[in-house]
Amino acid sequence: ASRQYVPLNDLHDAVGKRIAELTKSEAALVSAGAASALSIGTAACVAGTDRDKILRLPDTEGMANEVIFQKSHRFGYDHAVRNIGVKIVEVETAAELDKAVNEKTAMMFFLNHEADAGQIGVEEFAALGKKHNVPTMIDAAADVPPVENLWRFTEMGYSLVAFSGGKGIRGPQSAGLLLGRKDLIEAGRMNGSPNGDTICRTNKVNKEELVGMLVALEMFIDRDHEAVWKDWEARCETISQAVKDVPGVQTE
Ligand SMILES: *Cc1c(COP(=O)(O)O)cnc(C)c1O
Repeated sequence: ASRQYVPLNDLHDAVGKRIAELTKSEAALVSAGAASALSIGTAACVAGTDRDKILRLPDTEGMANEVIFQKSHRFGYDHAVRNIGVKIVEVETAAELDKAVNEKTAMMFFLNHEADAGQIGVEEFAALGKKHNVPTMIDAAADVPPVENLWRFTEMGYSLVAFSGGKGIRGPQSAGLLLGRKDLIEAGRMNGSPNGDTICRTNKVNKEELVGMLVALEMFIDRDHEAVWKDWEARCETISQAVKDVPGVQTE
């Protein structure tokens, strides 16, 4: 990839189209990691494709600039959302969420890793987004395998889904995926590299990440997932055997 020369937007289009097919998503883009996908997705929900708004971020005055989080879903990467200049609104129950939604609500955010920590479950959260006609984004950075999770959340109704390229997919550490609605992916592209004077211009991906991410995804999907699982179990068993005679140590 580093030795071939192409207009970057053409490569973004082509790779995005192929990744969307592979992940059964309406559209897709390669980001500079899952955290980068969160920033791009938030910018898409706040500024959309509006040139003036894109130029103004992170100044969001006068824009819909509130993002709803469950309190238990605040986490060490939510700076990636806050970077865009939004205000985080915390809720705990579905009733509180219903009340919190207003004309300033730009997005609702769900952290899949903490799916069991909040009072609103992963499916209900997507449904609440639909009910209020507010885009929903889920962070599923480390949540493949199982491979089916690549399409589970868009099928569930999430507008945007973020994955890391370098975790379960075992692609480039400097890459990630943002999957979801066509209009929002298009807006995400406009809010980022290679377009200059955009908030996510700093989240650059080049040919190496674009092609590397696609190839890693193809290899990941084609892998014998059952064999991989068995290998992991065998590794756990090795560790378990090695420590079983150490007093006070139990494994499961
Ligand atoms: C690892 C992780 C991220 C960041 O992923 P990068 O691909 O390194 O940007 C974001 N969210 C969650 C939940 C993660 O586990």
